[in-house]
Amino acid sequence: MKTNYSFFEDRYVPLQEANVNIMNQTFMYGLGVFEGIRGYWNAEHQQVYLFRLREHIERMFDSMKIMHLSCKYNVDQVCEIICELVRKNGANTDIYVRPAVYSNTSKITPCLANVESGFCILTLPFGDYVDTSGGLKVMVSAWRRIEDNAIPARAKIIGSYVNTALAKTDAALAGMDDCIMLSESGHVAEGSAMNLFMVKNGTLITTPTTENILEGITRGTVLEMAQRELNLPVCARTIDRSELYTADELFFCGTGAQIAPIAQVDGRQIGATSAGPVSALVRDTYIEICRGNRAAYSKWLTPVYESGTSVVPLAQPVQLTA
Ligand code: PMP
Repeated sequence: MKTNYSFFEDRYVPLQEANVNIMNQTFMYGLGVFEGIRGYWNAEHQQVYLFRLREHIERMFDSMKIMHLSCKYNVDQVCEIICELVRKNGANTDIYVRPAVYSNTSKITPCLANVESGFCILTLPFGDYVDTSGGLKVMVSAWRRIEDNAIPARAKIIGSYVNTALAKTDAALAGMDDCIMLSESGHVAEGSAMNLFMVKNGTLITTPTTENILEGITRGTVLEMAQRELNLPVCARTIDRSELYTADELFFCGTGAQIAPIAQVDGRQIGATSAGPVSALVRDTYIEICRGNRAAYSKWLTPVYESGTSVVPLAQPVQLTA
């Protein structure tokens, strides 16, 4: 079987050798940050395109700052290590890449002052995270989104995914595909691990960054792309729960979720068809962009293979200066 390499303690090692000790503070308290990046395989180009790689790594550095963590590699070097890892794995499918910076300290006290940081990356082949065809059934979660003054949602902190897990689990046990979370103020925040857009009376609306959301890179992509591709006003404003029920269209967006139209919220059908026209257009355009079939958006793509004709992994890892 092909070895799946990860990056751990400054080396490319088989995934099963990338292990941390049970005394590690991140295992004990979730004191780390991470990113989730998708790579799209384009068979015609024989290429993997990493979507908005640099923006993801810049966000990871912002998360690190909030969490007093550090990385011995800079943004460019992290991007380079990720590309090398994908090449080393000879990826020729859609993939998911997860870099993480974490407290690599064995201290019982959950304190981030003067902790040593570790850095690792794993990659996996990856398909759909949720159904994107247009039939998502969701509920408003009884769990509230974490508040900025408790655990800042704008940082992608490992421990904060307890909030996601509680909400997603309740939704799954209730037979739902996912859920929408409200903030403590009672306004709509986002999905369990994705942002939310609503179409109402010809306007594309998303929740504001002050509503305890992760400031999604896909959300930013949709805002920018929609202004170019759709003849619709676009805005970020507070959304009430009851507005969800009367929306013309609703869709989730995120690296994992991609663009996933919502068919039902709390038993109310949304719109006339399962994927409304705006959601379907955004979804299809987004995938074309990600897969490298829209030249106008190539600035968002990092091709991994130097020549788009070979998927043979490079023999030697690129030398990196620490
Ligand atoms: N919110 C949460 C809580 C998430 O985990 C994600 C996925 N990273 C998103 C939103 C969407 O963010 P992005 O588009 O950057 O993947």
